[in-house]
Amino acid sequence: MTQFLRFPEPSALTGFASNPLDRLDGIRDDPDRQATLLRQPSTRLLAFCRDKPILKTDGSQISASFTLEEAKNLGLQRELVMLGAIAGRAYFAAQIDDNAAHMREFSDEGPLGDTRELVMSGRPDLTLGDLRSLALDEVLKPEEIGLLGCAKSVLYWHARHRFCSACGAPSQQSASGWRRDCPSCKAMHFPRTDPVVIMLAVHGDFCLLGRQPRFTRGMYSALAGFLEPGETIENAVRREIHEESGIQLGRVAYFASQPWPFPSSIMIGCVAEALSEDIQIDRTELEDCRWFSRAELKSMFEGSHAQGYGVPQKIAIARLLMRAWVDGEAPQF
Ligand SMILES: [Zn+2]
Repeated sequence: MTQFLRFPEPSALTGFASNPLDRLDGIRDDPDRQATLLRQPSTRLLAFCRDKPILKTDGSQISASFTLEEAKNLGLQRELVMLGAIAGRAYFAAQIDDNAAHMREFSDEGPLGDTRELVMSGRPDLTLGDLRSLALDEVLKPEEIGLLGCAKSVLYWHARHRFCSACGAPSQQSASGWRRDCPSCKAMHFPRTDPVVIMLAVHGDFCLLGRQPRFTRGMYSALAGFLEPGETIENAVRREIHEESGIQLGRVAYFASQPWPFPSSIMIGCVAEALSEDIQIDRTELEDCRWFSRAELKSMFEGSHAQGYGVPQKIAIARLLMRAWVDGEAPQF
C-alpha cells in the first residue's frame, strides 16, 4: 500500500471523484453572502432538466457551466443549490422545470435503436447529456464531472423529498439547498447518501467475480450490495458475499471509495479474504459467479480472454479494485 503514497490515493482514480469543491459550509445560512455570489460575473451555474445535465458548446469545448446571464434563459428554476467554490469561482446547481424539455421524435433509428430524444424546447444550441456517458467519454473537464455528480445527487434528493417524512407537510429548502425544513413539525432533513459495499473476494491467486443479467455481454465484476442499518462495512461485505455466492469470508480491508450519483450512493470498495471455495449462486441476483485466476483477469483487461470475457467500464470502482489486485497493489492477506 505504501506505493500509493507516491500517487493519488486510490479513490481519486475513480469516476466522479475529482471534486475539489470548497463547500462554503460557513455561509450556507447567510443569504446576503449567497446573493453576493449570485451577482459575481465569475460565478457559474450547472443546470439539470429532468435528470439530465444541460450542455452548451463553448468554441470547440462542450461545457456544463453557464454564466448567470445564460442561466436566466434556460427555463424556470425549481431548486437552487449552492455547491461551493473552486479556486475562488462559485458554483451553483439548478433544477430547471421539466417543461423546458420535450421528447423529439425522429424517423432514423439512433445508434441504440432510439427514435426519440429529450431536447430543450426552442434551444437547438443546447443539448441534454447522459451523465454516465459524459463521464466515460471524457468530453468535460474532470472537475465538471465531479460537480455534476454532486449536483445530480442533491437535486434528486430535493425532487424526492418535497414533503416532511415525519408529518407529511410540504417541506422547504434551507441552508443553501443542503437541508429541508418542515414548517409544521420543525423537523430538519438532510441530503442522504446510500452506502453500497463492493468487494473483491480473493483466495490465493483467484478472485471471485459475478455477472448480473443486465451487464453487457461477457462482462464480469466485483459483487456489491447495500449496507444495512446496524452493520459495519466489514459485516456488510461478509453478508453480501455469502448471500450471493455462498462463500465464507474472513478479513476485510478497505481499499477505496467512489461517489456514485445514480442516484446518490457512496461505493465502498474492499478486498476480502475468502475462507471457502464452493460457490452457491443466488440466481435471483446473479446470472453467473465463478473464480478467476490472476492471469485470466489480466487477459480480460487486455481484451484477449479466450471466451471474450471483459471488465467493467473505466469509471467503475470495481474495475479499479480488479486492476489493483491484478497488479499486486490491492491489500494482501
Ligand atoms: Zn414535519
